[in-house]
Amino acid sequence: MAGNRTFTMIKPDAFEAGNSGAILKMIEEAGFKIVAMKATRLTPELAGKFYEVHQERPFYADLCKYMSSGPIIAAILEKDNAVEDFRALIGATNPANAAEGTIRKIFAKSIEANAVHGSDSDENAAIEGNFYFSQLERVL
Ligand code: GDP
Repeated sequence: MAGNRTFTMIKPDAFEAGNSGAILKMIEEAGFKIVAMKATRLTPELAGKFYEVHQERPFYADLCKYMSSGPIIAAILEKDNAVEDFRALIGATNPANAAEGTIRKIFAKSIEANAVHGSDSDENAAIEGNFYFSQLERVL
C-alpha cells in the first residue's frame, strides 16, 4: 500500500525569487497537509550528504553548490498516495518537459534550479524527512 507522507524542499532559486508562498499555496490546494516545516540552509557538505545517491552523476558538484547557495524551506507533507501525487504536482525534473500547470513548469528556472524537490519513494520520503527533522519536530 502507498504511504501517506512525502518530503519536499523549496529550493534556493524559488526561495530567492519570493515564490515560497505561492508554491505552498499550490501544495495546500492540491490537498497536502503540512505536518513539519522550516526555513533553513544547507552547507555544501550537507547538500552532498542529502544527494549522496547522485555522487557519480556529472552534475553532482554543481548540484551541491546550487543547493547550498541560499535558504530553502523543508517540509513533510501528508496526503493519501503522497509520493506519487506530489511528483505529479511538481512535474518533470526538466521544466521544459514538465506538464502545464505543474509547480516546476510555473516556477523552475532550469533543470538544476527546478524550484522544488519531491521524494521518489516512501522509503526516501522517510529518510529525507528524518534528515531535516528531529523526533521532537515530527510530532504531528
Ligand atoms: P528529481 O527526482 O526530479 O529531483 O530528479 P533527480 O533525482 O534525477 O535529480 C536530483 C536533482 O538534481 C534535480 O532535481 C535537479 O535539481 C538536479 N539535476 C538533475 N538532472 C540534472 C542535470 O542533468 N543537470 C544539472 N545541472 N542538474 C540536474
